Amino acid sequence: MSNTTSINKYKIPGYSQLFLETTCGLSCKNCCVFDYKGTDATIGLRRMTISNTRDFLVKMREKGIGFTRLVTLGGEPTLNPDFKEISYMLRNEFSDLYDDNVCHTNGCNLTSDVIEGLSMYDAIHISIYPSNIDIHNTLINSDAIKYLRTHNTNVIFKMYTKKRFFAYGEKRSGFTYDENNWDRCPIKNQCQYIHDGNIYGCNLLFAEKREPCNLMTSTVQEIHDYFERESGYEMCKTCWQPAKEVAVLPNKPEIDKSTVTAGLKLISLWNKPNKII
Ligand code: SF4
Ligand code: SF4
Repeated sequence: MSNTTSINKYKIPGYSQLFLETTCGLSCKNCCVFDYKGTDATIGLRRMTISNTRDFLVKMREKGIGFTRLVTLGGEPTLNPDFKEISYMLRNEFSDLYDDNVCHTNGCNLTSDVIEGLSMYDAIHISIYPSNIDIHNTLINSDAIKYLRTHNTNVIFKMYTKKRFFAYGEKRSGFTYDENNWDRCPIKNQCQYIHDGNIYGCNLLFAEKREPCNLMTSTVQEIHDYFERESGYEMCKTCWQPAKEVAVLPNKPEIDKSTVTAGLKLISLWNKPNKII
C-alpha cells in the first residue's frame, strides 16, 4: 500500500469530527455516542479544552496534515464551556488547516455566547428529532438564524423526524453479513472521529475504541495509508452494518422536554427587540 517514497503532506478526506463534548441535553435512543448498543460510549472520554485543541492543531500543522472538512460535535458541542473560544480559535488561528468547518448542534443551547461561537463556522447543521421539533419551528424564522446568515454561516436543518437511526448491534432482517461488509458499508469513508489525538475511521470504531490511527505519533504516510486503504478494518469482518433501522425516540422524554423548554426560552431571550442584528 505504501509508496517507496514517503509523502510529507496529506489532507484527510471526508468529515473529520472533533469530539468536543461528552454530554448532551437530549437522550435519543440508539444515539451512536450515548446509546451505542445500549451503552454510553463516552465513558472514559473527556471534553476538549482550548489548550488541548490548540496543541493538537499546531501539531497537525507542523506535520503537514490538513482536513477537507473539520467538524465540531459531541455529544452537544455547545455545552463545552469553552465552545465560543474554541470556535473563534478554529476560525482565527487554524483556517489554513481545513477547506471548511462545520458545527453539529441540536439547537437547544443557543445562548448569546454560543450564537457568537456558531458565527465562526462556514455551516451549522441543526439536528431536529421528534423531541426537539419545537426548536425547529421557533428557530426557523428567528433573529438568531438571521444573524448567523448575515455572518455567511450556512444554516442547515437536518430533519430526523421521519428518518431512522441504526440500532447498532441488531441485525437487519434478510441481510447477510460477511467478509464483504466493508465493500458495501454505507458509512465508510464518511465521518471519522477525533479524540485525544487519535482518529477513528468510522463512528463504530470510535464507539468501540478500536483500530484508531494516532495522528500525533503516526507518520504522514501512515495517516495517508489509514484513509486510502483498499481493504477494511479488522472490525468490518464482524460488523453488523447496515444495522436494523428504528425510529428516533427519546430514552428520557422528561429530560428532553425540559432541555427543549430551556432551549426555547434562550431563543426567545435572544429575540428581544433591542438585540442588535
Ligand atoms: S442530540 Fe441525540 S443523537 Fe445528537 S448527540 Fe444528543 S442524544 Fe445523540
Ligand atoms: S466497522 Fe462497520 S461501520 Fe465501520 S467501516 Fe467497517 S463495516 Fe463500516
